[in-house]
Amino acid sequence: MTLHKNYIGGEWVAGVDASVNINPSDTNDVIGEFSNASREQVADAIGEARKALVKWSGYTTQMRSDILSNISIELFNRKEELGELLAREEGKTRAEAIGEVARAANIFRFFAGETVRIGGEKLASVRSGIDVEVSRDPVGVVGIITPWNFPIAIPAWKIAPALAFGNTVVFKPAELTPASAWALTEIIAKAGVPEGVFNLVMGSGPIVGQAILDGVDAITFTGSVKTGRSIVQRATERMIRVQAEMGGKNPLVVLDDADFDTAVFCAVDGAFFQAGQRCTASSRLVVTDGIHDRFVEAVAQRLDKLVIDHALKAGTQIGPVVDQRQLDQDMRYVDIGIREGAKCRVAGTTLKRETPGFYLSPTLFVDTTNEMQINREEIFGPVASVIRVKDYDEALSIANDTEFGLSAGICTTSQKHARHFQANIQSGLSMLNLPTAGLDYHVPFGGRKGSSYGAREQGRYAVDFYTIVKTSYLAV
Ligand code: NAD
Repeated sequence: MTLHKNYIGGEWVAGVDASVNINPSDTNDVIGEFSNASREQVADAIGEARKALVKWSGYTTQMRSDILSNISIELFNRKEELGELLAREEGKTRAEAIGEVARAANIFRFFAGETVRIGGEKLASVRSGIDVEVSRDPVGVVGIITPWNFPIAIPAWKIAPALAFGNTVVFKPAELTPASAWALTEIIAKAGVPEGVFNLVMGSGPIVGQAILDGVDAITFTGSVKTGRSIVQRATERMIRVQAEMGGKNPLVVLDDADFDTAVFCAVDGAFFQAGQRCTASSRLVVTDGIHDRFVEAVAQRLDKLVIDHALKAGTQIGPVVDQRQLDQDMRYVDIGIREGAKCRVAGTTLKRETPGFYLSPTLFVDTTNEMQINREEIFGPVASVIRVKDYDEALSIANDTEFGLSAGICTTSQKHARHFQANIQSGLSMLNLPTAGLDYHVPFGGRKGSSYGAREQGRYAVDFYTIVKTSYLAV
């Protein structure tokens, strides 16, 4: 079996031991072995990244832009092959996975442009004989810790701006999806990045993740609320810059006046595609009385017809969930829902397919209240609840009654309600007649309340996290 090593200071380095990566669509399919770095190796990686800072930030913006461009081109050229690898290790469908690789390519292309657009300001001083200049410096060594559900796009939207603005990187992918991260690293290594500028250290959160936190100048994290909170605490203790994107309990409001087919499409796509394993998935469907019964019936019928199978099989609409632990968690929440009195309109069960995998059919709960545990906690699987409400005001109030605030959507033909919702929903992303999941790569991304901490990611706003503003006074 091929051993995939860590990448430290421009060398491929074996770790202390290795983990085996398994295909969730077929647990007999072993993707490869991936080295786990030791704490000392992480410290080495941080040291190498620190040494490389002066050289990298001294590269002209054109040189850095060209390198990001090379990475983008390679990702585009290999999107089918890398998409297949991604689908194999994560379980999303081939089409979704190829789309994710293309997204990563677009992100590198976008930041290749941003690299040369970096600017500042020149102002007159309030005193005579002085000029004032406001410019942006790199932050330094950036630690990047990512989850498994978008194993190439999330690393891309952190690595690309970090490199674009002159930082060096120590990157730790999720334990469940090291193959996409390793493939991306190989591409970056061959794209002209000087040694030490980009480092890959694979392994567990408590060992490798913590060692990163102990040494870097800034940390950008995406993952669960629990891990995010502990990372923010540690980063704050060290007084380093931190950005954390975490979970959601995203509402989709459906009003009586909604276009019916649009509402059903938004609910099914937003809640269940990619097996509900999206931080922006609609897990609370908040539906007004007049449309409720018809809507539930139509969603249930669509769910019955969904093709759940091997991620790489033609015709599959939803692949397996990512692993046994996630499957157990999803089933545990189904039990919790039933115990708290929710009714299963569509009941989720484990499924047998040609190959052994973590196949789970969707669950649609009805007769739920917003106070139930299934409507308070992130489940992260193909499980959604319908909450019946009398009118728009009650819907908005329930939509906002959550500790999260990542994405929220409304299906309505009323301009008045659409505008009011956009202005008053307490979330970072607001969707009108669209699923709560599904985003552009060139605009800011992030949430409010318990979903996010720190500066926004992506688009032009990324510059705020990856640079430090300097104000210079010059006697003239
Ligand atoms: P997770 O928190 O378990 O792990 C995320 C990363 O943190 C992994 O690389 C893991 O190894 C690392 N980690 C774990 N413990 C650590 C520790 N003590 N110190 C340092 N690092 C540690 O999350 P997951 O299960 O991989 O991903 C699913 C979660 O990610 C969901 O909650 C989902 O909502 C969230 N997510 C959020 C967004 C967003 O942008 N808001 C996007 C995708 C996923």
